Amino acid sequence: MGGTFNPIHYGHLVAAEVARDAFELERVIFVPAGQPPHKGVIADAQHRYLMAFLATAANPWFELSRMEMDRPGPSFTSETLAHFHAQEPEALWYFITGADAVMDMPRWHAAEDIFQHAEVIAASRPGYAVRIEQVTAALPAAAGRVHHLEVPALAISSSAIRERLARGWSVRYLLPDAVMQYIRKNRLYGAGP
Ligand code: NAP
Repeated sequence: MGGTFNPIHYGHLVAAEVARDAFELERVIFVPAGQPPHKGVIADAQHRYLMAFLATAANPWFELSRMEMDRPGPSFTSETLAHFHAQEPEALWYFITGADAVMDMPRWHAAEDIFQHAEVIAASRPGYAVRIEQVTAALPAAAGRVHHLEVPALAISSSAIRERLARGWSVRYLLPDAVMQYIRKNRLYGAGP
């Protein structure tokens, strides 16, 4: 489960749980991206990791990896998946992420390699038009290996949460309480205590 998780919210958690059922996954490993060259406010990787820890710790099927945070240089998904695949070559691996990110995959570093190591699950809110054929047209290796998963809880988004925090509005019920308290304690995203 790859993402910036800036911050992690119930949409991500529900998406992981729904994917676990739909694809009969043994476990879901959350891999917060290292520091991406992003637009907008992005919390330090350590903060994003700790928020992901608070959000996932109680679920016995969820794990958390520091791999992309600790690897120097940009976080390339192809390298991350090569690492996991090498650890358990017999396993069928899936890379779960947001559908917007999947649509962008043809522009990623070594994108074809991703499909040597894993299949891809593109999670979106219902009604989002995922054009998987655009991905497979650009990346022949992706043919039959990209799956769309609709998750109503993905109406929640990190950007909307950051915006609400900056305005001093409530984010209760959008993310776990422990994450909300962590954000306020550390005054992330312009949030007050
Ligand atoms: P993003 O562009 O910030 O997010 C795109 C959309 O997908 C947003 O709507 C986002 O919603 C949603 N999203 C992101 N992760 C999700 C998840 N795990 N489950 C459900 N929805 C999710 O994308 P990003 O977070 O930076 O990157 C996503 C993944 O792609 C990461 O693992 C990243 O390392 C990888 N990536 C790899 C490359 C490369 O290898 N060259 C390049 C770009 C991205 P929220 O904002 O609410 O999360």
